[in-house]
Amino acid sequence: MLQQTRVETVVPYYERFLERYPTVEVLAGAELEDLLASWSGLGYYRRARQMHAAAARIVRRGSFPDTLEGLRELPGIGEYTAAAIGSIAFGIAVAVLDGNVERVLSRYLALPGDPKAKPIRRQLVAAATGLLDGERPGDSNQALMELGATLCTPRRPKCLLCPLSSDCRALAEGDPERYPPPRKRRPVVRVRLVLAWVEGPQGLLLFRRPEDSKLLAGTWELPWVEGIGGAQPQEPSRGLATKYGGRWTLNDAIATVRHGITHRAIEAEVRRGTLDSTGTFAASAQAGWFQPDSRSGDILAR
Ligand code: SF4
Repeated sequence: MLQQTRVETVVPYYERFLERYPTVEVLAGAELEDLLASWSGLGYYRRARQMHAAAARIVRRGSFPDTLEGLRELPGIGEYTAAAIGSIAFGIAVAVLDGNVERVLSRYLALPGDPKAKPIRRQLVAAATGLLDGERPGDSNQALMELGATLCTPRRPKCLLCPLSSDCRALAEGDPERYPPPRKRRPVVRVRLVLAWVEGPQGLLLFRRPEDSKLLAGTWELPWVEGIGGAQPQEPSRGLATKYGGRWTLNDAIATVRHGITHRAIEAEVRRGTLDSTGTFAASAQAGWFQPDSRSGDILAR
């Protein structure tokens, strides 16, 4: 839950989550739709899906894996998370390199390059491994992470209080904030969408995003089309027909919504519309009628 999300936001979700899913067996047996509903508001739903899939795998294998290889086989667990769980929960002597540790060590060694770049990363891993207390790797990793979170902060590091100050090269140079260099921001990409608001006797028409979508896989959404190169979509009715099947008619806009996701600046025009279609949706489109205040929908056949 803490990936890309602040602690203050996560705490109430975490507490409710543990009440609702107190064991890995309960989590594995939960309906994915219910789990996603409990996740609603946290974003990055892929995390919830992967946690659900990981719980199912743990239940199937009969125990939680306690090796780095075993941990990495679980959906959603990469090198960093495997090292964090492995060292903290199972005492495996492996260094953890999160953003805070990268900053501490970039300054400690006065490394001028991007910590994510391979040659710099190799040096950071070697330094973190050298500093690791093999007897207490979990505490050792957490100490370095905590040092980065509390003392070696991005702005105004508290070097006078820092236990690494006597050997810190960036401090010796006199300007620790120079390290690591600021990351280049991705240029903002403008996205213009037209969304269709189609109401019928059973509710509002939504479509399900394909399971292999990079963003929001498997979630239900208003049907939409995107303009080319950030421009307003041309002939959106035809675009909807090509994407979802059926014959669409769009009327005037009822709202314009602006929203930013990472480097994308999205402007979405919502237009009331009608669809003359039943049974002629595109093969990949799954449609359903939903009441706006209900979690479940009346799913149509593909
Ligand atoms: Fe960071 Fe200052 Fe400690 Fe160096 S001495 S690691 S710059 S807090």
